[in-house]
Amino acid sequence: MPYVVTENCIKCKYMDCVEVCPVDCFYEGENMLVIHPDECIDCGVCEPECPAEAIKPDTETGLESWLELNANFAKSWPNVTTKRDALPDAKEWDGKPGKLELLSPEPGEGD
Ligand code: SF4
Ligand code: SF4
Repeated sequence: MPYVVTENCIKCKYMDCVEVCPVDCFYEGENMLVIHPDECIDCGVCEPECPAEAIKPDTETGLESWLELNANFAKSWPNVTTKRDALPDAKEWDGKPGKLELLSPEPGEGD
């Protein structure tokens, strides 16, 4: 029953979440982070840390496709445990609908 990163992380990537995860299970894409569902211990500490409210427990309905997306990208993106600056226009994109089509499949920097 892992937590998953959802649409509002895209183009924001505030990264507050990575610093609190006790098992370091965040993985970084160019403009989004994901959680590795097999590594997440479901502690929930990251959820309130996300300024974009993008982290949800997968027990919420309608998150199946996000869980799959997190699982897939966690296999190819690098692990990240250190917070860096948010994307430059993060505030502008926070809360905008339709961000999924802007998701980059490219990996991020990682640690
Ligand atoms: S804190 Fe939220 S917006 Fe920032 S990287 Fe983590 S999930 Fe994405
Ligand atoms: S719920 Fe806990 S283990 Fe899972 S990603 Fe968040 S902080 Fe990490």
